[in-house]
Amino acid sequence: PISITDPIEEHRICVCVRKRPLNKQELLKKECDVITVPSKCVLLVHEPKQKVDLTKYLETQAFRFDFSFDESSSNEMVYRFTARPLVETIFEGGKATCFAYGQTGSGKTHTMGGDFSGKAQNASKGIYAFASQDVFLLLNQPRYRSQNLEVYVTFFEIYNGKVFDLLNKKAKLRVLEDGKQQVQVVGLQEREVGCAEDVIRMIEMGSACRTSGQTFANASSSRSHACFQIILRRRGKLLGKFSLVDLAGNERGADTSSADRQTRMEGAEINKSLLALKECIRALGQNKSHTPFRESKLTQVLRDSFIGTNSRTCMIAMISPGMSSCEYTLNTLRYADRVK
Ligand code: ADP
Ligand code: MG
Repeated sequence: PISITDPIEEHRICVCVRKRPLNKQELLKKECDVITVPSKCVLLVHEPKQKVDLTKYLETQAFRFDFSFDESSSNEMVYRFTARPLVETIFEGGKATCFAYGQTGSGKTHTMGGDFSGKAQNASKGIYAFASQDVFLLLNQPRYRSQNLEVYVTFFEIYNGKVFDLLNKKAKLRVLEDGKQQVQVVGLQEREVGCAEDVIRMIEMGSACRTSGQTFANASSSRSHACFQIILRRRGKLLGKFSLVDLAGNERGADTSSADRQTRMEGAEINKSLLALKECIRALGQNKSHTPFRESKLTQVLRDSFIGTNSRTCMIAMISPGMSSCEYTLNTLRYADRVK
């Protein structure tokens, strides 16, 4: 049994990795699990026969992370070490962000939106819901109860550089930046919530809106970033904001040479946004005065969260265990390695 002690997170950036288990189809196909997760780092083992030469990584490169989670860890466990330490930040007037990064099918939506391994989504078993529950727990503690705080949530999708409101029938929204570089998503629905159950309803509503009208479950969600935000206000005035982002599949960023023009454009946009995200997080970690947030819609919309003295972020790099995912897994690990 693993004893869980809540980590004391002091630094502004935390980078973790999570490996999902082999799924039924992979087991049927006798896919080989090529990833081992010792504590704090990820090693690729079982030398693959062809395709990718991993030997040099075996010898020279173990990727190191603040925490790593193997296939036996639950969403709740992952939450406790990643987003949980950031919840308090928003009560102290800060901005927190948590990103799920990785290949399509690696478990980003499962981790953030809830457990999808049963017949339907269990929205109460994801990081969006766990974070919301803890927000209400804190809110009801004596030191915050007297402050009359209000909680709101927003849920939107960024697809091909455009913003769509998942709590308002995918309405297309404009993003405006004023002279003071304040970024605003015009007309984004902020729904007031009074308890964790209210939030779960919003998660379910937004998730259904995200996937509706799709032939394949992952078709368009793999090409868009979904952002769920918990916003704290005191007498109407913004206090803090927690943005939890389920990023577009990173393999989509490689679609830049596809024959199809639409796919190519989407790929270029995804590539641009994931690169910009890495640079913005790095700038935050190094306390740089310049943050290249204008490079993509994703970073522009999250601008507030990359600046300021009380901004903290966490990235969870999701990886698939299978041999056939090897190349993307390496890409994911390299990306996450360089964020910090
Ligand atoms: P992504 O959002 O990265 O494309 P999903 O979250 O949709 O991937 O996961 C793909 C499939 O794998 C889903 O059916 C999901 O239920 C399953 N899955 C992902 N992570 C886990 C996990 N840790 N344990 C069990 N099943 C998982
Ligand atoms: Mg997904």
